[in-house]
Amino acid sequence: DYGIGSWPWRQARIRPHKVAFTQPGHALSYVRLAERVERLAAALLARRIRRGHRVAYLGFNDIAALEVFFAAARIGAIFVPLNTRLTGSELSVLLQDSTPSLLFHDSGHHQLAQEASHGLVWLVGPDEREAMTAEPSPELVDTDVGLGDDAVILYTSGTTGVPKGAVLTHGNLTFNTMNQLAHVDVLSTDTALVVAPLFHAAGLGQVTLPTLFKGGTLAVSPRFQAAQALTDIAERHITSFAAVPTILKMMCDHPAFPTADLSSLRYVIYGGSPASQDVARAWQQRGVTLLQGYGMTEASPGVTLAVLGDAAMAKPVSPGVPHFFTDVHQRPCEAGGAPELLVSGLNVFRGYWKRPADTAAAMEGRWLRTGDAVTFDKDGWATVAGRIKDVIISGGENIYPAEVEARLDALPDVRESAVVGVPDERWGEVGLAYVVPASGAAPTVEGLRQELSGQLAPYKLPRYVRVVDHLPRNATGKIMRKALRDRHPDRLP
Ligand code: AMP
Ligand code: MG
Repeated sequence: DYGIGSWPWRQARIRPHKVAFTQPGHALSYVRLAERVERLAAALLARRIRRGHRVAYLGFNDIAALEVFFAAARIGAIFVPLNTRLTGSELSVLLQDSTPSLLFHDSGHHQLAQEASHGLVWLVGPDEREAMTAEPSPELVDTDVGLGDDAVILYTSGTTGVPKGAVLTHGNLTFNTMNQLAHVDVLSTDTALVVAPLFHAAGLGQVTLPTLFKGGTLAVSPRFQAAQALTDIAERHITSFAAVPTILKMMCDHPAFPTADLSSLRYVIYGGSPASQDVARAWQQRGVTLLQGYGMTEASPGVTLAVLGDAAMAKPVSPGVPHFFTDVHQRPCEAGGAPELLVSGLNVFRGYWKRPADTAAAMEGRWLRTGDAVTFDKDGWATVAGRIKDVIISGGENIYPAEVEARLDALPDVRESAVVGVPDERWGEVGLAYVVPASGAAPTVEGLRQELSGQLAPYKLPRYVRVVDHLPRNATGKIMRKALRDRHPDRLP
């Protein structure tokens, strides 16, 4: 059993009394963590959860989420962490797709879990979870979970706007961990702050698993708040954390930032989109090394990462060099633009959950198509030059234009629509919807946002709406998104 679920007991053998997790009012040593995970795993088996079955989780970052992850992994069940920002109807699509046997939720998400599950999935709240963890456990039979077994499903929609579950194996997550250790000296004396949501590949894979592999401590923070994060760094002596540029910007814009005690911080890993020069400079001026990474859910998620040391200080807005067990290949682009990056490696997924056609479209043999134009300088450091695919990245969350357009087009006031990303200082990008009204209708920004708000997560609602009488199309009838993006983004309504 070399699966991720064995990590707690393996680390407990090496550093039994080292603190694995802390959370306000709560600390757990590796040996206690291992005991709790073994008991919860046995309780899952007793409820007939078997290898390959799904176990979902809906909640803020919490030690409990990680315990459920390890317990599911321990018996070869697949962990499905769900995005708390989604609406009940969006979540129910994910539950119908992944058909989990159990849906664990925290105390704040009982109602959303109920709305999403329609009584079709067995819900497990905090009290029942704690009771399961307290059950006396029979010795676990050797579960024999290997690197080739599926460990997690992370939903990441696609260009069509239909959510797709990227299936990551134990091997994918293990090699993503090894990859990071080759670039960054993670230490057993580290205390990493878990602020990035655990339902994204970066929250789970970056910093979190490498810190546990080295026997460090994870200080779990339920959700990001700039003031709280700054206090946590000082009081919990945080040495590292993983973030997206929006988090870094909100922290350095906070009035407490210039005087906050950041002396314990050794580095911050960030990715999802590049940070602005200003944000990078603000952190560097406070003596913090920023390590940018480039990746995607399908790569578990790291593809490239800066290397801890002088080079990272010199190139704070480059996402570094390809990972140790990761190969990259640049495919020239037909139109003569920057080449598309193809990626292969031990961290690259095998496919989407029950979607062979989508998997086939994403891969070219062993190569994963990233949909990103990436170039490398003479030192081999990357620049993400642009995106070939139609995704908008806003505060680390992905918005798929097709999904928003489908909802807009279904409104009675709308004949057709096109959604594009426009630059935004805080969020990186926000959505701008071009809307062609139905005849006689006069839709307003607030009216449209209102109508969509029950259907789509708040971060997907277009920030701006422009009413136009037609959409630009090319000869084959395809909407020319680039033309829309390039239309005066600086003069938004
Ligand atoms: P996701 O699967 O949600 O993690 O989104 C992956 C996508 O985010 C990539 O394909 C890129 O388009 C984008 N991305 C990730 N990291 C970076 C980065 N450092 N710079 C620019 N874009 C990035
Ligand atoms: Mg992302």
